[in-house]
Amino acid sequence: MLELFPDTAAVDEAGQLTLGGLRATDLAEEHGTPLVVYCEETIRAQARAYREAAPEALVVYGTKAFPNVGILRLLAEEGIGADVSTLGELAFAREAGIPPDRLVVHGNNKSDEELAAARDALVVLDAPDELDRARNAGVERMLVRVTLGIDADTHEAIRTGHHGSKFGLTEEQARTLIERDRGILGLHIHVGSLLRDAGATRAAAAALARLAATVDGWQPQVLDLGGGLAIRYTLEEHAPSVADFVAAVLEAAPPVPQVILEPGRSLVGRAGVTLYRVGAVKETGAGTTYAAIDGGMSDNPRPQLYASRHTALVAGRAEAQSDGVYGVAGKHCESGDVLIESVELPSPRRGDVLAVPATGAYTLGMGSNYNGVPRPAALLVRDGNARVIRRRETVADLLRYET
Ligand code: PLP
Repeated sequence: MLELFPDTAAVDEAGQLTLGGLRATDLAEEHGTPLVVYCEETIRAQARAYREAAPEALVVYGTKAFPNVGILRLLAEEGIGADVSTLGELAFAREAGIPPDRLVVHGNNKSDEELAAARDALVVLDAPDELDRARNAGVERMLVRVTLGIDADTHEAIRTGHHGSKFGLTEEQARTLIERDRGILGLHIHVGSLLRDAGATRAAAAALARLAATVDGWQPQVLDLGGGLAIRYTLEEHAPSVADFVAAVLEAAPPVPQVILEPGRSLVGRAGVTLYRVGAVKETGAGTTYAAIDGGMSDNPRPQLYASRHTALVAGRAEAQSDGVYGVAGKHCESGDVLIESVELPSPRRGDVLAVPATGAYTLGMGSNYNGVPRPAALLVRDGNARVIRRRETVADLLRYET
C-alpha cells in the first residue's frame, strides 16, 4: 500500500504513518483536518524524472492540477514552467516567478483581459477568431490547438482529443489560421488525462506531423504534446513510469526545434495525501458500515465527477490487520458524497486519522464551499519540517463575501 503514497512515506516503530519524517497524526493534530500534505521530495523527483526523460523539452506544470504558489516555486527551481488556463492561474504562476518564456496560456474561451495579460507568454489559440483577438492584444508567440479525432482510453469527462470536444480547432480551421498567419509557431494537442499508456498521444503526435506537412511553406517550430500521464490511485490500477511514457511520446513526435510537455497529475498527484478525522461510524440497513470523515466532495470531487476510486489507511495503526470492508462517507448533504465505496480497514473509530493517498491532483484544486464548508489547508513536508502552503479557510472567510 505504501507504494501509492509519496516517496518519503514510512511506518515508524509505533506503527504510525509518517510523511516527510513527520507523523500524520501529529500533523492532523497540529494543523487540523482535512489537511492535504504534500511531500517536497516526491514533487522534485517527479520533476527531475521529466527533465531527465526529455532534457531538450520545455516541461510546464498543468497548474489546474493544484494551483499553488509554493508548489509552482518549487517546480520552477527544478526548471519547470507553468501551463495556465485562466487569469487566476496566470497570476499564481507570475507570483511564483515563472518567467514568460516558460508560460503557456490555454483556454477555450479566453477573455480580452486574459489575452492582454498573456501577451508576453506562449498563447495556445483555441477558437477561429482568437488569432485576431490575440494579435490585437499584443500576443506575439502562438500555437494552435488541434483536435484530431483521437479517442483516448480514459473517462469521457477527461477525454479531449475526440471530434466533438469543446477544445481545439479542426484540422481545417487550424490550417486556415496558419495560412493567414505564418508567424504561428506550432501546434498543440492534449488528448486527455489519466492516460495509462502513450498510445493516444503517439497517434496524435503522428497526426500533427501529417497536418503540418499539408501547410505549404510552413514548418512548425514548436510542438506541444500536452500532459495526461496517469498515476495509481489503488493497488489494482497501473500507470507507466514518467521515463517510459515520455520516451514513447517523444519517439512518435516529428523532429522540431522545441517540444513542450504539460504534465499535471503525474507531477503532484502521488505527492499529496489527504488526512481526515473519522467521526460517526455506523452500519446501514443494507449492511454497509460507513466511517464518516470531516471532508468529502468539497475537498475531493473526483468520485462524483469521474467515478474514481480511492483507498485509505488508518494513519495511527498503519500496519494493523483489516477486520472488514467499510465505506468512507463525506460529511456533505448528498447521498453521493461517498469518498470510497469499499475499503478494507482495521475497525475505524471516532478520532482516527484516515490517510487517503494520491490526492495531490484535481482534489483541493477542484474544491468548493458546498454546505458552507471552508476548504482545507495544504502543507509541504520535508526532512521533519512542515510548511503551510495554503492556509485553511474559515467560516469567517466565507462570510466576508456575504452582503
Ligand atoms: N494540458 C492541458 C491543455 C490540459 O487540459 C491538462 C489537463 O487536463 C493538462 C495539460 C494536464 O493534464 P494531466 O494532469 O493529466 O497531466
